[in-house]
Amino acid sequence: MAGLSRSALANLVTDWGFKPVHGQRLWRHLHAHARDDFESIDRLPSGLLARLGAETQSTWLPVVRDTHSTDGFTRKFLLGLEDGRQVETVLMRYAGRVTACISTQAGCAMGCVFCATGQMGFERHLTTAEIVVQALHVARTLAATGERLRNVVLMGMGEPLHNYEATIAATHILGDTAGLAISPARMTLSTVGVVPGIVRLADDREPVSLAVSLHGATQEARAAMIPVAKAWPLDALMGACRYYCDAMDRHIFYEWTLIAGANDRPDDAHALGALLRTHRAHVNLIPLNPTEGYDGLPAHHRAAKAFQAVLAEYGIPSTVRQRRGIDIAAGCGQLATSVASMTDD
Ligand code: SAH
Ligand code: SF4
Repeated sequence: MAGLSRSALANLVTDWGFKPVHGQRLWRHLHAHARDDFESIDRLPSGLLARLGAETQSTWLPVVRDTHSTDGFTRKFLLGLEDGRQVETVLMRYAGRVTACISTQAGCAMGCVFCATGQMGFERHLTTAEIVVQALHVARTLAATGERLRNVVLMGMGEPLHNYEATIAATHILGDTAGLAISPARMTLSTVGVVPGIVRLADDREPVSLAVSLHGATQEARAAMIPVAKAWPLDALMGACRYYCDAMDRHIFYEWTLIAGANDRPDDAHALGALLRTHRAHVNLIPLNPTEGYDGLPAHHRAAKAFQAVLAEYGIPSTVRQRRGIDIAAGCGQLATSVASMTDD
């Protein structure tokens, strides 16, 4: 039920012979207040409650594990899906704001060498409901302390543009002003560079912010880390990015995982600067987080600063992402689930 838009739920309720207003109330209870104790809604017909109980699935995904980072800012939820698979969702606190990092797939088919999700392979796409419920779960957790969820990043497990329809439908539900009302500017979708998906976002005028993972500024360097770069080469990707920025009249965030000795040298920064100098770009530098299947090391803080200084010479603004939740494997690229993780505690 969490995957139904406000109008779809109103239609369902009317098809069942109840008034649309009852659908509206149900929808608000779930999406604005992150609550599914529908029996507490005033004047809701008991027949509707009975039908809901009989014909809809439980809203929440069971929490298999809830881990707090020693950094005090990060909390990771391992959530169980109905078919026994699992996904991870991360609650992150930065100065004055809380962000939910949510997953769009169980596993990922893109196979990036340094990413734990890529290392586990693809299991399946998540449904719209499974994507929405992750944000609702974080919102409900925050409501307990009187806080509100205002930021969502689609940067958890999976490649959102490989699961386009379900992901975009979820962003519409999360952005609905009668529900969680997450401003589209505060929802960021990160893609490995699925060219047709980027073009489609522009053609559909989807209002979410866009982040594109680059990591390499030449076709060769990029393809060594991201196998799918062979299918969507750098030229085509940068063409799609330009098309997107022109159509949407906005910039793109480019993500660059900084790996010591691999892509953190001044030459790499110059290559990136030259690539992006005519684009509307903000670069997010992410020092590599450790994963089991990749033995690279994160760039040193000094290298990151030097990298930023070179980008600044090209007029390109950049930010070094704060490292959070590394001890509980909740950092970028560290999310993974396996049957082993179901049984190891
Ligand atoms: N599939 C999407 C979104 C999920 S990954 C994408 O690839 O963009 C989110 C971000 O984490 C991406 O920028 C990705 O490149 C980065 N990332 C993956 N593995 C990482 C690691 N080990 N350390 C740091 N960042 C990593
Ligand atoms: Fe998939 Fe993104 Fe990980 Fe690559 S970095 S394997 S696209 S989740």
